[in-house]
Amino acid sequence: MYDVVIIGAGVVGSCIARELSRYELSICLLDKEWDVASGTSKGNSAIVHAGYDAKPGTLQARLNVKGNELMEQWCTELDVPFKRVGSLLLAFNDDDMGELYKLMEQGRTNGVPELRIIYKDELHTMEHHISGDAIAALYAPTAGVVCPYELTIAAAENAVINGADIRLGQTVQSIMRDSDSFEVVTTEHTIRARYVIDAAGVYADDIASMIGDNSFKITPRKGEYCILDKAKGYLAKHVIFQPPTAMGKGVLVTPTVDGNILVGPNAHDVNDKEDMATTAEGLQEIMDTARKSVPAVSERDVITSFAGLRAVSGDDFVIKPSDVDSRFIIVGGICSPGLTSAPAIALMVTEFLHQAGLIIDAKADYNPIRKGIPRFREMNEDERRRLIAMDPAFGRVICRCETVTEGEIIEAVNRPIPAVTLDAIKRRARAGMGRCQSGFCTPRVMEIISKQKGIPVDGITKKGGRSIVLTGVVQKGDAYDDRT
Ligand SMILES: Cc1cc2nc3c(=O)[nH]c(=O)nc-3n(C[C@H](O)[C@H](O)[C@H](O)COP(=O)(O)OP(=O)(O)OC[C@H]3O[C@@H](n4cnc5c(N)ncnc54)[C@H](O)[C@@H]3O)c2cc1C
Repeated sequence: MYDVVIIGAGVVGSCIARELSRYELSICLLDKEWDVASGTSKGNSAIVHAGYDAKPGTLQARLNVKGNELMEQWCTELDVPFKRVGSLLLAFNDDDMGELYKLMEQGRTNGVPELRIIYKDELHTMEHHISGDAIAALYAPTAGVVCPYELTIAAAENAVINGADIRLGQTVQSIMRDSDSFEVVTTEHTIRARYVIDAAGVYADDIASMIGDNSFKITPRKGEYCILDKAKGYLAKHVIFQPPTAMGKGVLVTPTVDGNILVGPNAHDVNDKEDMATTAEGLQEIMDTARKSVPAVSERDVITSFAGLRAVSGDDFVIKPSDVDSRFIIVGGICSPGLTSAPAIALMVTEFLHQAGLIIDAKADYNPIRKGIPRFREMNEDERRRLIAMDPAFGRVICRCETVTEGEIIEAVNRPIPAVTLDAIKRRARAGMGRCQSGFCTPRVMEIISKQKGIPVDGITKKGGRSIVLTGVVQKGDAYDDRT
């Protein structure tokens, strides 16, 4: 029997697992998908928000500001790229100016440091490619960008290094409870635990209803994005926002930690919790809106698009012990700024567990450090030579767009949470993230996974389950039909 089972290995569940792994507890992190960070945590704006958007006194306001403060230490310990680039919320007219002043005051009440309004000359000196129509901006120097899936993977890996179990490809179907434990029934196993954390993203309401808690409802709100080629990375140095709308923070243009430009999101409520498809109209909508801030944003530079689903439940996060059973902790409605808040949410949940009777003794050999995969593309010549001398596999480039080597892919395959699908490799080593979007490197990556893990190449999938890539293998010497 586990002390704690965490349902959902997104950024929230993974950060909770990492935080709990510093104590003498048996922990199980489980997810229905075949890799961590396969839900909303892979499809968002990747902004570490400063914290001025949320209404004072809300969980969002408190956890955003705390999460922003914690992010630097978490990313340093976990070897995750995080850049405090600062954000600019643009104003184009007097109404917008009113909004800027309001948000600046709100931010100060929330405890956001260093907020100030900057005017046209300073603004255009800081950002050369924003629209000439922008008259001022709310500047938040503490905002930043992080890689959301790398943070999730790193936190989950660190939890595993510190003794947590991870079970992937297991959908929770029902939960039974008695006086001292829960039985979590998945498609594969029945897992017993004394405490349950519901961190199931857009499904958190469905999971809670399995113990009869129907206290909140989640509406998925889709946001679509385009990623621009790194060649256009000069278009934005800061996170560039437009004034918020009733549906969210509006369309932004931002650099990513890897040097691309991200454009989006829009906001449309959907019925289907699996609907992460992009649409031609949606992408047109975000590109047209983004041009109001940065006129040079162009469809010609788009290398890929994606969508994510916000888990919307009223105006705030729903983080509480369930009224049905205080050993079941709900972590629901974690829409934006959930990524920013995740480290702070982890601390809050630990406190709830403690209050619900879980004894938490610090682990003497807890190791907060997780070393990431070497990033060949970011190394200088000397570092590259040294790495190749240690292992020649780092001298063979597999993904030419992103300069990812065989050594990096081999390491990804053999991490504490092994990457055995194309998407898992992509998220860990960036093979396939570049301009050609894996057109060249896919067969090579499949060969490496196959060789490392002894899986036949036609058994390798895009993202687990039935997402097969090859329907069969043509053997050398096989006859084939070459009629044209
Ligand atoms: C468009 C958009 C933009 C955003 N931008 C930002 C931003 O810039 N900054 C910011 O701070 N936040 C942002 N957010 C919010 C942030 O992305 C989320 O708050 C965060 O990713 C939520 O993480 P999570 O772990 O709760 O959910 P998820 O990442 O969705 O994880 C939940 C997991 O639960 C699993 N699961 C569900 N049901 C079951 C089941 N029955 N059995 C087993 N597993 C199950 C899922 O597979 C999933 O992996 C944005 C969100 C969206 C959609």
